Amino acid sequence: TVRTRIAPSPTGDPHVGTAYIALFNLCFARQHGGQFILRIEDTDQVRSTRESEQAILDSLRWLGLDWDEGPDVGGDCGPYRQSERSELYVQYAEQLLQSGKAFRCYRTPEELEELRQQRRESGLSTALKPSDLTLDEAEVARREAAGMPSVIRMVVPEEEGSCEVHDLLRGTVSLDWSMVDAQILMKSDGLPTYHLANVVDDHLMGITHVLRGEEWLNSAPKHQLLYQYFGWEMPVLCHLPLLRNPDKSKLSKRKNPTSILYYERMGYLPEVLLNYLGRMGWSMPDEREKFSLTEMQDAFDIQRVSLGGPIFDLAKLRWLNGLWIREDLSQEALAQRLVEWALNGDNLARVLPHVHKRLETLSDFIPTVAFLASGDLPLTADAFADTKTDTETQVKYLQFALWRLEGLRTWERDAIWNGVKALADASEVKIKDFLAPLFIAIAGSSSSFSVVDSMHLLGPDMTRARLRNAIE
Ligand code: ATP
Ligand code: GLU
Repeated sequence: TVRTRIAPSPTGDPHVGTAYIALFNLCFARQHGGQFILRIEDTDQVRSTRESEQAILDSLRWLGLDWDEGPDVGGDCGPYRQSERSELYVQYAEQLLQSGKAFRCYRTPEELEELRQQRRESGLSTALKPSDLTLDEAEVARREAAGMPSVIRMVVPEEEGSCEVHDLLRGTVSLDWSMVDAQILMKSDGLPTYHLANVVDDHLMGITHVLRGEEWLNSAPKHQLLYQYFGWEMPVLCHLPLLRNPDKSKLSKRKNPTSILYYERMGYLPEVLLNYLGRMGWSMPDEREKFSLTEMQDAFDIQRVSLGGPIFDLAKLRWLNGLWIREDLSQEALAQRLVEWALNGDNLARVLPHVHKRLETLSDFIPTVAFLASGDLPLTADAFADTKTDTETQVKYLQFALWRLEGLRTWERDAIWNGVKALADASEVKIKDFLAPLFIAIAGSSSSFSVVDSMHLLGPDMTRARLRNAIE
């Protein structure tokens, strides 16, 4: 039977790209009467968090993309979290070492940089090969005895020839071996890299079809080689085109909101976001714009995916959402959605601590929190006129804040506060003056509650969208 999977890394906000790839995997599995699995790829200990994992699971569930096996629902091939499978990878890496398909590498970061430089100077790619990396036995013994850290790398062909990989949509693709490096399989911390863990798990979990983003096509030769080394049958590969910004560049949070949480907060309906993602590179046989997940599953045909980069266009999504609201929601259904969306217990619990003491009547509530429930704020130059600084300086502050916040790893109140405080200090202005234009950009007026709390409540994508909107 067909088994597909989505394998997100829990290193940030849930990405619309993850939902898009999950949707196609789900439809492919269902169309063939198979199963769809969710696996958490959290081998990057530093960047992975449980909060991010939870947010990914919640977001995919909110969209209605349900899986048959996963960390929360269990299944026969668990555990479904790579951090709980460490011994397996050790064991398989050991097998490759024994069969001579992998080797221990004691090279230092400085040496690696130098080796790359040497290759560059000889007109070669910077992909380091086993022959570049090997040290003589005595030196290996010396480094081992000195307790120097080591990694396990895979053996790869040297410069000549190319590797043929089969892709369900592209047919046979030829990739030069010269670009393929002796990939690290096990890091010095004893944890696997994506490549080893992914291949081992896809095999052990019985995955038959790997539908993933195009960005992984260049890794396919390494994966194919690993399957050969282990003597395992390779799943069918299918690389889906990446979502793009309207300017054709890869969809990225610098230009467009990419977090599913943003779309939820903007008040897009989950079924519409799925419908729109289903139109990314794919269409119904009758080309209709509007379809449900069930309809997509029933009509799904992977060969209808077109390879041109699909454009994720907010204006188009907005239009489609309106169409669904008008045509598919009765007044009662709409009323229910509004209550669930705006006045649910979680939302109120997040917001009330900030407004409780500011309310004299209940009717103060909606105006006080309106900016949190809005999309883009309709800003005019007048709105900024009250603040002490001139327009140029304000734009500068907003831009600084935007850059600074883009670099934040976690969206925590203290991190946001420290970020803006550092900027105010560096600009040698009072924090109050620095924050004044941010108040307007974020809340539309300076009389709101703490702008740092507001940004925290709005989340990173909505905050960035407001700052960008104000700068323009
Ligand atoms: P950004 O440029 O927005 O920071 P990123 O590539 O750093 O994006 P990641 O957090 O690395 O984003 O990716 C999260 C998941 O989303 C990955 O599984 C990745 O494959 C997927 N993804 C990221 N960008 C796209 C895209 N443009 N189209 C489809 N999937 C994407
Ligand atoms: N963990 C990888 C990612 O986040 C999975 C890629 C794959 O599907 O092989 O994109």
